[in-house]
Amino acid sequence: MNERQRLEWVCKITGELFAQDLSTEKILRTVLSMIGEALEIEHGCMLTFNNNGTVDEGVMLSTEANAESMRNFWNLLLTRGLIGYVYHGHRTIVIRDIAHDPRWPQLPTAPHIPQSGSAVGIPLKKNGRNYGVITLIHPVVDYFSDEIVHMLEAVADINLAAMRGIININSRVINYKETRYHALFEHAIVPIILTNLDGLVIDANQQALQFLGYTRDELLRERITSIHRLGTGPIGQDRYASLRRGDAVEFRSTAWKLNGDPIPVTVRARRITMQEQDVIEWVEQDMSRQIEAEQLRNDLTAMIYHDLRGPLHTVQSSLSALARQLANYDDDNLADILQVAVRSSRQLSRLINNLLDMQRLEEGKAVLKRKQTSLHYIIARAIELVQPMAAEAEIKLAFNLPNELPMIEVDDNMIQRVVTNLLENAIKYTPQKGRVTLYAEAFEDRIRISVQDTGPGIPIHIQHEIFDKFSRVKTSGAVKGFGLGLAFCRLAVEAHGGEIWVESKDDSGSTFSFTLPLKPLSQPVIV
Ligand code: ADP
Repeated sequence: MNERQRLEWVCKITGELFAQDLSTEKILRTVLSMIGEALEIEHGCMLTFNNNGTVDEGVMLSTEANAESMRNFWNLLLTRGLIGYVYHGHRTIVIRDIAHDPRWPQLPTAPHIPQSGSAVGIPLKKNGRNYGVITLIHPVVDYFSDEIVHMLEAVADINLAAMRGIININSRVINYKETRYHALFEHAIVPIILTNLDGLVIDANQQALQFLGYTRDELLRERITSIHRLGTGPIGQDRYASLRRGDAVEFRSTAWKLNGDPIPVTVRARRITMQEQDVIEWVEQDMSRQIEAEQLRNDLTAMIYHDLRGPLHTVQSSLSALARQLANYDDDNLADILQVAVRSSRQLSRLINNLLDMQRLEEGKAVLKRKQTSLHYIIARAIELVQPMAAEAEIKLAFNLPNELPMIEVDDNMIQRVVTNLLENAIKYTPQKGRVTLYAEAFEDRIRISVQDTGPGIPIHIQHEIFDKFSRVKTSGAVKGFGLGLAFCRLAVEAHGGEIWVESKDDSGSTFSFTLPLKPLSQPVIV
């Protein structure tokens, strides 16, 4: 290609780009396919970036058949290769021989992946900011001569100008300053940003500018994805599809201020029509205060639960001391009263521990203190705790356990509370003279424990709900509870990598079962 041909070719691209009002994606596609045609290139990709470094728009030269593997290939060059170097280095890089250049990553041998030849990466940059990268690969070694590189750099500038031109074209077209919407928009007390259907910012109210720390000019150069992510999908994914279709969208995200500070936000976005132009309105609600308040409330409740344990512990040790003293007196009445107090204080202690664990587990904190434990021991301890309650309600407590059960690595205290909760519930909801049976069974990779009762059963349509916090079955009559027991059981079992469920038919009792894996996961499960 001689100099004249190169010039003609640049003019052709320029003419194509400015002849019509193209979206960014169309601009990238047009430029890339024209380069491909002119230089007889099969492998090329153009990416644009948000100012937080995430990919905004991306197009590549590829056929439908190999699109997926090429997408992975370009992503590899982005994370570990040429595209990344060009983006971060803000300069053109030519790799004369990709087979022998240390900057070229080791690539899988697949039919579509080029294994030899040369490559070039050119930044789309302006005023010290890098907006994107053009990457091209040619099967001939040392193909990208200085002349071709200069031409491509000129094309990169034209490309960028066309992309930024959109801002001007669109903001000129939407002449809505006189409209009623504009008055509401400008005086709204929440930050509002308007973009075109491609996500390019075309206006923002004062609140938004203040909130994000941008001047109007700075913000008008941005895309909404520089402010907050809409999910960074693979190259070429259309993230505005549902908004374009006209659905209102609400999501939680992080808004990035110009100085890089993150702010948690709830964003409500919808498509609106102004002066026959379709735009997207993004209303940003600052959630920092709510999140702080939530955190404060959580910390406070955790502190209260924690502090309740101190006095309760004192009550329990005083009751033990009292029991020792009372052993000298032969007074059944006093012993019974004491037993009630001891039982109630144990119940209270379990409740507080459950609440404390639930909160920690919900916050994603790993709170398991695993150790090798005998299941027989856990079960025996739980049965011992609920035995008096069963006796009082005249419920027969039975168990069906194999002689041998494998040792299991669990937080014994927590699992014991799970078994106790299930037994207590079974006793609580089963009418007098009923029967509660505990089963345990070991499989190759897990153990299962079940508690079966002859109580009222649980209607099928609410069976999945009862494991939620504060969920109680309305018809369960006078039995008191907070609806927290099963929620704790679920969190505790899932944190161990197990499952919990109920099987029940109306009137024929319920069976609550849970499993625990025999091999603990190496990582604690965050639920
Ligand atoms: P609580 O018992 O404190 O209400 P749980 O979370 O332990 O809270 O149980 C949630 C709901 O599930 C209970 O209110 C009850 O309606 C139902 N439930 C739990 N266990 C049984 C059972 N064994 N038989 C019948 N219903 C039960």
